[in-house]
Amino acid sequence: MMNLNEEKMATVIREAFDKVTGSRRWQTAIAKAKQQIEENPYMSYDGHALLVLSPSGEIYTANGTCQCRAFEQGVPCWHRAAARLVERYFEAR
Ligand SMILES: [Zn+2]
Repeated sequence: MMNLNEEKMATVIREAFDKVTGSRRWQTAIAKAKQQIEENPYMSYDGHALLVLSPSGEIYTANGTCQCRAFEQGVPCWHRAAARLVERYFEAR
């Protein structure tokens, strides 16, 4: 689990949800990302990309891209959502 300030991350997530109104798939991806950020102990961010051990057992390096099947199919995935949330978190003051 990443050591993040819960309140700050909650703000970042709220802002992210506000930006994707109208896209159910991104809303779903962000909701899953939120859950994983809170619960998944196997995530790390190197300042550029988020390294994730997915509950499926796959390892993904996500930033604008991802290696998962959803990404291949052009569908928003929670790995990219999580990467963006964490990026935003570290950009925010
Ligand atoms: Zn993905």
